Amino acid sequence: MIELTKRQEQILQIVKDEGPITGEHIAERLHLTRATLRPDLSILTMSGYLEARPRVGYFYAGRKASNVISERLHKLLVNDYKALPIVVQESATVYDAIVTLFLEDVGTLFIVNQKGFLAGVVSRKDLLRASLGNKTLEDMPVSIIMTRMPNIVTIFPEESLFAAAKKLIDFQIDSLPVVRAEEGDGRSFELLGRVTKTTIAKAFVELGQEPMV
Ligand code: ADP
Repeated sequence: MIELTKRQEQILQIVKDEGPITGEHIAERLHLTRATLRPDLSILTMSGYLEARPRVGYFYAGRKASNVISERLHKLLVNDYKALPIVVQESATVYDAIVTLFLEDVGTLFIVNQKGFLAGVVSRKDLLRASLGNKTLEDMPVSIIMTRMPNIVTIFPEESLFAAAKKLIDFQIDSLPVVRAEEGDGRSFELLGRVTKTTIAKAFVELGQEPMV
């Protein structure tokens, strides 16, 4: 993936409009010398934007659609797509957690400690499993069934949505807490949001609807 300079963009535009066109003519159009332009032309040729034919000149080769998609994909940031995290306190019961799951219409809950920092994660199946026993759910603290720190897979807001999707797949989980490390100890995390498989599906649909440029 390369970022084009302003001059390289200009060259592309000229070739798109007037190609096939010789290096000499491109230089003339930009009021530059052929020598000044040479590095730009070789970058554009090597990266597949332009094709050069001897004695004919430069053609616009276009980019492969897959490159364009991949480039756009890697630019999406967690911060712009994250949803609100649904949390319950560490002191809540499994019963409370199940009620919250239904009320908030989510599949995963994040558990926070008294200071409000991330302490655990509870999934649908964690709650179903707890319900299979004969124990009273009103008496069972959610903290005994949760997946706890430091085993929680997290993501930072400045990371890419692609990195988040990769973690969801690699760790076979449905939801990631978006966190910021607390100054100082570096082991406490403030909860900023969540990225779930739904978040990824929404971004995917959005990408498919946007016209490509
Ligand atoms: P489900 O269990 O409903 O299929 P998940 O696949 O998300 O939902 O959860 C699988 C297991 O992984 C559960 O035990 C859950 O506590 C745990 N888990 C969920 N999210 C995370 C996470 N971000 N980091 C670590 N463990 C997680």
